[in-house]
Amino acid sequence: MSRFSLMNCNRILYNLQRRPVALVQRRFIHLSSSRTGAASQQVLRHLDQELDGIRESGLWKHERVITTKQDSRIGVAQQDSSILNFCANNYLGLSSDPAVIEAGKKALDEYGAGLSSVRFICGTQTIHKHLEQQIAAFHGKEDAILYASCFDANAGLFETLLTKDDAVLSDELNHASIIDGIRLCRASKYRYHHLDMADLEEKLKDAQKFRHRLIATDGVFSMDGDVTPLKEICNLADKYNALVFIDECHATGFLGKTGRGTDELLGVQDKVDLINSTLGKALGGAAGGYTAGPKQVIDLLRNRSRPYLFSNSLPPPVVACASKVFDLLMDGSPLVEDIQSKTKRFRSKMTAAGFTISGSEHPICPVMLGDANLAASMSEDLLKKGIFVIGFSYPVVPMGKSRIRVQISASHSVEDIDRVVDAFIDVGRAHKVIP
Ligand code: PLP
Repeated sequence: MSRFSLMNCNRILYNLQRRPVALVQRRFIHLSSSRTGAASQQVLRHLDQELDGIRESGLWKHERVITTKQDSRIGVAQQDSSILNFCANNYLGLSSDPAVIEAGKKALDEYGAGLSSVRFICGTQTIHKHLEQQIAAFHGKEDAILYASCFDANAGLFETLLTKDDAVLSDELNHASIIDGIRLCRASKYRYHHLDMADLEEKLKDAQKFRHRLIATDGVFSMDGDVTPLKEICNLADKYNALVFIDECHATGFLGKTGRGTDELLGVQDKVDLINSTLGKALGGAAGGYTAGPKQVIDLLRNRSRPYLFSNSLPPPVVACASKVFDLLMDGSPLVEDIQSKTKRFRSKMTAAGFTISGSEHPICPVMLGDANLAASMSEDLLKKGIFVIGFSYPVVPMGKSRIRVQISASHSVEDIDRVVDAFIDVGRAHKVIP
């Protein structure tokens, strides 16, 4: 199987996991009843065993079905009352912001439901160009290019930019989409230990034999909420003549004084060459991703990047929602300071209660528990108290490092924060996690 079709298989499986349960079940029933050959029976028996194994080890991913908009309070199927939501990447609470929704509705009327085309055939509207200019200006870069997702932006960057004469140096805990994107490229690959600058330096020394070097890292690692040491990375990049790429999905819009991201937080905005990020988290939460960087790189991506060239344009309402968010953030927004102070409140209260919270001062607050079944049953108990949080376990996090990831949003009230802490204390005591 070619690298590209392998990648497609991964994407299909990944997308399948995100589809509504009923749809997947219907497809599965169709597959199992229509394919009765010996080979398919054999594969399905094997899959049954695999699935039983996932269930038995407490690693099954349950998808709760939301019946409302994404917000700090949501309706959840089979729950009578509304639930306090602490597990969305809706950092600034803009997914249900009236001005953002209105912008989406207006674009639907004016520009239609979609483009039925890729960008270079007849899928570029004025609003796509405008959003790309907003993104470039927000990050202080020359240009930007939109993708259907940040997964696609990561899948399309490395293969386009790097050849077999180059090297890429990647943090071992980078997001799956960076790892997959790097797999697709022909450059020599170095994996440095997580956040380990001494190891990165050793690998940069070895990589001097290549034409170009690119250091690739998440700005913020979503499973632990830890921030990459970007200043040190940029210093090493200067010393060893390398480019710096950051994935800012968990930083754009709210990290740093004006929400520009990790580079602003750590004072290296002029040192980072390439930024990929998502429109599907803090920036309104609809969908879409982008690369921002030098004009030549963006021009090359427009001409060669496969997920850009061979995939449909972002739909107008999605573009308009994101554009409205950039309008709100461009000159600074009180939401940025708001989420930072609420994050501090949650982290300090939970630590005082005896919980271990991983990461630094980031709204991703992983409550470390270790055991997968413990994380699953505590999150069930929290749901009974009206709190929606998710237990993360292998393979999303390493074996034995299960946790409940709490995510703070600017749309939570101070009372919401205190309520979730109180609920954790009750449930944590019942499970003997804290005294
Ligand atoms: N990069 C990181 C660090 C992420 O957390 C995610 C989403 O989970 C992605 C990339 C993919 O973003 P998108 O949902 O826009 O494909």
